[in-house]
Amino acid sequence: MDFALTEEQTAIFDMACAFGEEHIAPFAAQWEEDGTIPRDLWPKLAELGFGGLYVSEENGGSGLSRLDATMVFEALSRSCASVAAFLSIHNMCAAMVEKYGSDDLKARLLPDMVTMEKVCSYCLTEPGSGSDAAALRTKAERTNEGYRLNGAKAFISGGGYSDLYLSMVRTGADGPKGISAIVIEDGTPGLGFGAPERKMGWKSQPTAQVQFDDCDVPAGNLLGEEGRGFSYAMAGLDGGRLNISACSLGAAQAALEATLTYMRERSAFGQTIDRFQALQFRLADMEIELQAARTFLRQAAWKLDNGAPDATKFCAMAKKFVTEAGSRVADQCLQLHGGYGYLADYGIEKIVRDLRVHQILEGTNEIMRVIVARGLLAETA
Ligand SMILES: Cc1cc2nc3c(=O)[nH]c(=O)nc-3n(C[C@H](O)[C@H](O)[C@H](O)COP(=O)(O)OP(=O)(O)OC[C@H]3O[C@@H](n4cnc5c(N)ncnc54)[C@H](O)[C@@H]3O)c2cc1C
Repeated sequence: MDFALTEEQTAIFDMACAFGEEHIAPFAAQWEEDGTIPRDLWPKLAELGFGGLYVSEENGGSGLSRLDATMVFEALSRSCASVAAFLSIHNMCAAMVEKYGSDDLKARLLPDMVTMEKVCSYCLTEPGSGSDAAALRTKAERTNEGYRLNGAKAFISGGGYSDLYLSMVRTGADGPKGISAIVIEDGTPGLGFGAPERKMGWKSQPTAQVQFDDCDVPAGNLLGEEGRGFSYAMAGLDGGRLNISACSLGAAQAALEATLTYMRERSAFGQTIDRFQALQFRLADMEIELQAARTFLRQAAWKLDNGAPDATKFCAMAKKFVTEAGSRVADQCLQLHGGYGYLADYGIEKIVRDLRVHQILEGTNEIMRVIVARGLLAETA
């Protein structure tokens, strides 16, 4: 068993860290206020190969493993979890287009996705179905040229901002087997958006409803086979769960480092607050939590890369464990900053707000337990 990172993995981590420190961290607070991320950031990230992290090199991507990708998200989240998480969603979509798209669709969409001239949103959730995603109702009826879409997707990261919307829609009967995956291009008549949602964190990412009103989409935009869309959507989520965990980990690690610096400087009762043993114990507990989270996350990524039969269970376990550890650590860091932790200038309250949603999306942490329990019961039956 070898826990060491390869030289290449360390280089990827360092490169992403350096990029974040120069191009993201100094502007993250302003982007929160603006409620949007400048579009020209994405092609710069793509120059590092981050637009098609696990798209094959043959199709212009970086061909990295899931474990490698967690390095990128952990590193970028040190600067801003909201920006890193949006990159994860785009990469999940790019991988789905490569894996399931026809040669024609790939030729049409992938080059611009990999360079991030075009960014893509993932549209599964609807106003009436979240955890129970297979109950989705957005209808796609066959026409002579393709499909006519009617319905709405809720909470879509990048709604009204992205160029492409990879959507799960109903082409058949009720249940998962009646669902297909299709890409809708911005500007398609009948594609509309709700007002930007006002939310607790991830404020720099626009979130909005994506609406389809007699929206005609060519048949060639379908991914893979009709009726398989739900399984494609779920397959993408294992990796998405690793990435979102890595986002929690990186941001919480940055909060811990900022807290160590702060505690060495802040005095109370005649000494710097890092001298109080009660607080040292909290630091120790945070270090233990984050190291355990990192090890667990990397093990789950390794399982996914190696096609382990229990990879889905491990991705779900890691997602629950790491996102909760990340939020606990961020909250403790805020506490150790005292009142200053509550002020925007110190950057900690933003991390607390940004990380909270990681327990809700890519499958809630209750649904992660459902997956773990199902796996456990099946293994021991
Ligand atoms: C900021 C933000 C960005 C998002 N971005 C996207 C996106 O880009 N694309 C996308 O498709 N979706 C996105 N989502 C939606 C997100 O994935 C859903 O909110 C999430 O899946 C939960 O669905 P829901 O909100 O409908 O809650 P519900 O499914 O209604 O759940 C409500 C509560 O019941 C619990 N629950 C439900 N079923 C069970 C069960 N069987 N057992 C135990 N507990 C259960 C849940 O865990 C939760 O606590 C985003 C959400 C947010 C907040």
